[in-house]
Amino acid sequence: MIKLVIFDADETLWAAYGYWASLLVPPLKRVSDNEIRDSEGKSIRLFDGVRQTLESLKNKGVLISLVSMNDREPNRVAECLELFGLSHYFIYPQVNWDDKGQNILRIIELLRKNEGKIIKCEEVLFVDDHLSNISKAIKACPGIKALHIGTDISQVTEVINHI
Ligand SMILES: [Mg+2]
Repeated sequence: MIKLVIFDADETLWAAYGYWASLLVPPLKRVSDNEIRDSEGKSIRLFDGVRQTLESLKNKGVLISLVSMNDREPNRVAECLELFGLSHYFIYPQVNWDDKGQNILRIIELLRKNEGKIIKCEEVLFVDDHLSNISKAIKACPGIKALHIGTDISQVTEVINHI
């Protein structure tokens, strides 16, 4: 049974049009429900159904976290999640340039240490659009379930079928 779903951010939760959240130049502004624009006109757009998927996972009692390769300071991923009104879904999100496998282990450890939740690798589902990250996750956390956006699923809304 899946107890924790960990999402990538860029090109998984939102379209970043070939760049990534760290390249956004402040001030960032939410211009519609699903779009944030930076001061240079670059925008990121939340994929359709992301909100509903997060809400469904929450309602099923599944924990949700995030690992994103982006600058930790300033943390534009956190800023975008905040602007979209989605921050509250994510527990111990990791935004840094570390190996995603190590970040996944870190989240599991934080949940154990701080929340008393024991979660095994086989109870974790990781979702990312880069196969190299999927490989690193499997290497660090044998037994983890992983979905590659592009081959296993075409969009985040399909995650709910794998819970
Ligand atoms: Mg990505």
